[in-house]
Amino acid sequence: MHGKSIVIIGAGVLGLSTAYYAARQGHHVTVLDRGTADDLNCSYGNCGLIVPSHFIPLAAPGMVRLALKWMFNPESPFYLKPRLDADLLSWGWKFFRAANPEHVRRCAPLLRDLNIASAKCFKEFARSHGNSFELETKGCFCLCKTEHRLEDEAKVVQHAKELGIEAGVLSAKEIAAREPRIRMDIVGGVYFKDDCHLTPAKFMAALKAEVQRVGVAIHWSSEVTGWKANGSRIESVQTVNQQFTADEFVLCAGTWSPVIARDLSLKLPMQPGKGYSIMLPEPPMRPSIPAILTEARVAVTPMGNSLRFGGTMEIAGLNEGINPARVRGIMKSVPKYYPDFTRKDFEGVQPWSGLRPCSPDGMPYIGRTSRYTNFAIGTGHAMMGLSLGPITGKLLAEIISGQKPSINIESLSPDRYGK
Ligand SMILES: Cc1cc2nc3c(=O)[nH]c(=O)nc-3n(C[C@H](O)[C@H](O)[C@H](O)COP(=O)(O)OP(=O)(O)OC[C@H]3O[C@@H](n4cnc5c(N)ncnc54)[C@H](O)[C@@H]3O)c2cc1C
Repeated sequence: MHGKSIVIIGAGVLGLSTAYYAARQGHHVTVLDRGTADDLNCSYGNCGLIVPSHFIPLAAPGMVRLALKWMFNPESPFYLKPRLDADLLSWGWKFFRAANPEHVRRCAPLLRDLNIASAKCFKEFARSHGNSFELETKGCFCLCKTEHRLEDEAKVVQHAKELGIEAGVLSAKEIAAREPRIRMDIVGGVYFKDDCHLTPAKFMAALKAEVQRVGVAIHWSSEVTGWKANGSRIESVQTVNQQFTADEFVLCAGTWSPVIARDLSLKLPMQPGKGYSIMLPEPPMRPSIPAILTEARVAVTPMGNSLRFGGTMEIAGLNEGINPARVRGIMKSVPKYYPDFTRKDFEGVQPWSGLRPCSPDGMPYIGRTSRYTNFAIGTGHAMMGLSLGPITGKLLAEIISGQKPSINIESLSPDRYGK
């Protein structure tokens, strides 16, 4: 097969993973991003978790009730800003309809397969190009402060076992034995053995260096402003500086993808889900295994000698501004689980914010749209974009090469809400 010319829009983890696998298939790849090489898009400040444990999509039973309960608490981890916006109302309705047990039952095996395949890709990348990004395969705890929550997590463990995912319920004592230097105030938790973690900015640097080494051209400060199509074929994409023609085009522009897709008359229901992270370069103590503080919905990830805390899902439009109350919510939750932390440990630390691309059914969009023969999309990964980055890139590279995707992703079609 002769290599095709491919233009990818977006240099986040999705765009660069697609570039990596497309270049390996012998294609000539160009990546366009409106940011600069120093920008820290959503793929940099996230919590670095690779999560076979996350086989339940965001649209799951209980989430609507939780959103309503937390709506009026400014420090809560989940918030939907009510506003009269047709896209938001339509997204909310689709989310409501998807949040049922049958949807979870249908999606769980696919999310398991994608996350496990992606974890394998990360390990292969570290073996081939060096583990400069601190990939560790230590699993992940979900820590619980209440018996009620532990019972809920035990049900997830049961479901995980049915799916063949290794997981177990542990008492507070058993968790303490695995983290002997860390004092925790919990009733117990669960442990997912196959989860991994890494330092996202270092992974992105390694990925960027590798794609550039094999000849991928990355054009920064190149915001996409329009398209030229001829019937069912896209001929070129226009940026603020230049027009790019290619055989194939791939849209991986994260939460901004629907705006770009709209110019091609494509509907891609999505809302930005803002989250925050706080990195402590010298934490008073550093757990060696990542953890989710379940009631607080905060993730805690050791990254080298540092420790990152991240959380909050704020559906409040395309706005990256930092809401101090939500950040305070994250900081306040930490000493409740780790009593040796105090609010003082967070003083002077600059929080980071990122916009997760959230589809209404909690499942990514991966694949071609039927409207165009030379166009594919990879976005909508919400809380799992880092984790699913490499496998999405691999699947998209297979699709643009005319191969059958190695995992059946028909249900992830970008056309599933209409063309
Ligand atoms: C607090 C927090 C914690 C998280 N933790 C985890 C985790 O532990 N594990 C996990 O798997 N996921 C996690 N995520 C989610 C993950 O970070 C995202 O799903 C992922 O980074 C999305 O990657 P992306 O490539 O789709 O988008 P982005 O990283 O946002 O990249 C999109 C790129 O498109 C570019 N772009 C936009 N518009 C245009 C345009 N018009 N022209 C050209 N370029 C354009 C942007 O500049 C950007 O660089 C977390 C997210 C947050 C906020």
